[in-house]
Amino acid sequence: HGHRKRCAAELARAQRTMARRRRGKGHPPSKGYRRARTQAAKVQKKAARQNRHDGRIWAGTVVDAHHLVAVEDFKPRFLSKSTMARKAADAAIATVKRELIEQGRRAGRKVVLVRPAYTTMTCSRCFARAKQPLGLEERIFRCRACGHTACRDRNAARVVLAVAERGHTGVDDVSQTDHLPPGGGAVAV
Ligand SMILES: [Zn+2]
Repeated sequence: HGHRKRCAAELARAQRTMARRRRGKGHPPSKGYRRARTQAAKVQKKAARQNRHDGRIWAGTVVDAHHLVAVEDFKPRFLSKSTMARKAADAAIATVKRELIEQGRRAGRKVVLVRPAYTTMTCSRCFARAKQPLGLEERIFRCRACGHTACRDRNAARVVLAVAERGHTGVDDVSQTDHLPPGGGAVAV
């Protein structure tokens, strides 16, 4: 992903120039500042285009290899108080998920949107639900009921998949006795 690094470096350069050329409040923006601003916007646009392209290719590979595609339903959080980087990451993820849903449907795959509630609090092995949600900084999921330990995101993805495989769209629709034998050919994002 050399282009990603290159884009980030180009953007950083343009933003440094903007900071340097910025005059105090009440002054109109200088020519140099406006030029740097245009450049920064161009780099960001290019990065977004590249992400869309990468996402399309990735989604195609995933759809080819699986008959069931489970996608954690997402709400864009653009209105919340998140950082620019966070917003950009959310937008990139949303783009890739949209691509996956579209391509999956076009290819006639079973596409299931799963509600995000409890996905990070539920054990993907025994489906016991933790009493408290995992803190955002907590990267490891540990089940108190069965002792299962897994990377937080991987456990959540398996929960999403397990929900879809049982024909549901939410963790709270699944009862703890609703077990399925593990099967291949399905993927959760
Ligand atoms: Zn468990």
